[in-house]
Amino acid sequence: MKSRTPFVGGNWKMNTTLSSGSELVRGVADALARVSQVDVAVFPPFPYLVAIGAILRERHGRVRLGAQDVCQEPDGAFTGEVSVSMLKDCAVRIVLAGHSERRHVIGETDKMVNQKVKAILGAGLDCILCVGETLAQREAGQANQVNERQVRAALTQVPEDQMEHLVVAYEPVWAIGTGHNASPEDAQDAHAKIRLVLEDLYGPRVAQQTRIIYGGSVKSANARAIFDQPDVDGGLIGGASLKVGDFVSIARSAADSANAGD
Ligand code: PEP
Repeated sequence: MKSRTPFVGGNWKMNTTLSSGSELVRGVADALARVSQVDVAVFPPFPYLVAIGAILRERHGRVRLGAQDVCQEPDGAFTGEVSVSMLKDCAVRIVLAGHSERRHVIGETDKMVNQKVKAILGAGLDCILCVGETLAQREAGQANQVNERQVRAALTQVPEDQMEHLVVAYEPVWAIGTGHNASPEDAQDAHAKIRLVLEDLYGPRVAQQTRIIYGGSVKSANARAIFDQPDVDGGLIGGASLKVGDFVSIARSAADSANAGD
């Protein structure tokens, strides 16, 4: 049995309506109400956070409310941005930083990701730090180097006592939304190397406690094999998080994997 409780997050991206998102979260929260041994969060679009949060509260659920991004600045003239205190006001408890679509589509730099991580953790929220190589970087044999650089840069000046609030998501860019997931062995290899970077930065205790989750075309059919790898502690799920049955089945796979060997 793994010592780390698995985490499964549903990143809805720029999908759903108020009505379909409400129906989705009701289905997820009800189905997972009695599934223990897995931490679950959903990451709806900003405009729906308050409504989805209210549904989660009604269900006294175990499903936590997350946000897909945040501005690194506390307040001021940043048109279109949203601050950590606004997210806290909306009962958000966990925030993504450095998702590959933010890095590669919007142009977020390692420095910005570091500032966001510090803002999120500094406000007492939990953070999912996303890292991962592009296909070109993988083909050039640079995958581990890129992951290491992104982890070190994002954690610059993050104190050890905040690390219990951080989850690393390894999300190879070539696997996100493409239907091509990393093999369980490749995921394990990347996760083990990321854990070594954490060990170098914070020592063995923090490295062993920190959850490292996998993201990239996880479906109900491939989830269990990936989650069964010793250094894979759950998943960040995009497309498959938009269907109650698929997401619930993936979260159950994480719980079953954690329970195996009890
Ligand atoms: C993601 O957006 O983080 C993701 C992993 O997407 P998908 O599951 O659709 O590949």
